Amino acid sequence: MALKLNNSLTQSVEPLQPIDPGIVRMYTCGPTVYHYAHIGNFRTFVLQDVLRRYILYKGYRLHHVMNITDVEDRIIANAQDAGMDIREYSKKYLTAFLEDMRTLRIQQPDEMPRATEHIEAMVELIRRLEKKNLTYRSGRSTYFRIGAFADYGKLSGVELDSAAARGRIDSDEYSKENPRDFVLWKACKGEEAFWDTELGRGRPGWHIECSAMSMLYLGESFDIHCGGVDLIFPHHENEIAQSEGATGKPFVRHWVHAAHLIVEGEKMSKSKGNFFTLRDLLEKGCNPLAIRYLLQSVHYRKQLNFTFEGVEQARSALRRIDGFLQKIRSVPDGLQANPSLSDKTSQARQDFESAMDDDLNVSEALGALFEFIRNCNIDLDRQEVGSSNRDEILKLFGDANQMFDVFQIEEAKLQDRRIRELIEERRQARLQRSFQRADQIRDELFESGIILEDTKEGTRWKRVH
Ligand code: AMP
Ligand code: ZN
Repeated sequence: MALKLNNSLTQSVEPLQPIDPGIVRMYTCGPTVYHYAHIGNFRTFVLQDVLRRYILYKGYRLHHVMNITDVEDRIIANAQDAGMDIREYSKKYLTAFLEDMRTLRIQQPDEMPRATEHIEAMVELIRRLEKKNLTYRSGRSTYFRIGAFADYGKLSGVELDSAAARGRIDSDEYSKENPRDFVLWKACKGEEAFWDTELGRGRPGWHIECSAMSMLYLGESFDIHCGGVDLIFPHHENEIAQSEGATGKPFVRHWVHAAHLIVEGEKMSKSKGNFFTLRDLLEKGCNPLAIRYLLQSVHYRKQLNFTFEGVEQARSALRRIDGFLQKIRSVPDGLQANPSLSDKTSQARQDFESAMDDDLNVSEALGALFEFIRNCNIDLDRQEVGSSNRDEILKLFGDANQMFDVFQIEEAKLQDRRIRELIEERRQARLQRSFQRADQIRDELFESGIILEDTKEGTRWKRVH
């Protein structure tokens, strides 16, 4: 069955039909690196990750690009306050973002281009728009003339005369022909970050960044563009105007937007004290896999109400699944197959896949796995799980884990990397003559089945069973 996804452009659920059959080209709006990303951001990034993984699961090749917004008003203001260059300032948050991605097991896209490294492509795109008379200059800045692009509003349905459209613009500090127009190139006003280009000394607007980088990496027309719902207007609407204005071709086939995360029923805000970064949650003792599970467990088009109780429930759901998998793993070789359980396993796979095909209905897909666990527990109690059933079941959960990445399919083993880290820590401890700590590390490793051997070339290790 084909993967169907809701398309915000047509407001209907449509099959994904890549422009080039066999390869899906996808752009996801990435973080603005002026702060640690919050859990709302990660709701959207986890959705993008599940989508990315399911596209691969369906057997497509994928070219996935996610930008890093590292030039933007808030970054410039914060960098100036800190007396730093913007690249230096945002580096800390970019590194933190990559770390947070790993914590949540979000796979790295194929490319993560940074805005500051693609100024030339942005200037070039603005020049193309100039040639089509879609721009004008005012106060040394360059603006997009919305009135000259007939399709404006086709994604968001925004009425150009609406209060919503005007409200945003009244606060804008730049002079425009029409308050609805948006800036493509902002003239430099003082000691801020700038580039000297043929458009003058300045910096790009936020919207042009995504149009330029997505088309540079993925071509003028590509398959999927993702973000949170807040990006529909004006960001994505403006991207369409810029890209289609310049190329005259359809920009993106499928627009996919995640509904927002709220906390305990309210919009997250620092003043209400309900604003959390991933790091805040880890400090409070939340388990990272439970957080990932929770973030992906609600259908992406439904608002997600984050609560600490929800994290606990996610943790116990994971414990239930992992406990079940452990029982399945302990089924010995040589036991006769149970054909009806084999049928139930295939049925669970079908239910799981058709839920995922239906606009990534993760909650229903997880529901199919839980129902299977309930049924299979009866077979386990009756000792009617054969060795081939064991393998089929582990394969089913292993396959589901290609998307969810939260189940423990194999026996927990200390990862090699962690072992090497502990050996290095022991070496340092010995250098500093903290022999107690060094011995403690050796004993802990021994308890996990790792034996150390100190040789002239350094410490070797091996696993014992
Ligand atoms: P930003 O770093 O602000 O550019 O946002 C990164 C991503 O997070 C974008 O796709 C936003 O649409 C998304 N986003 C922002 N706030 C939330 C929220 N509360 N819930 C879900 N996604 C969000
Ligand atoms: Zn974007």
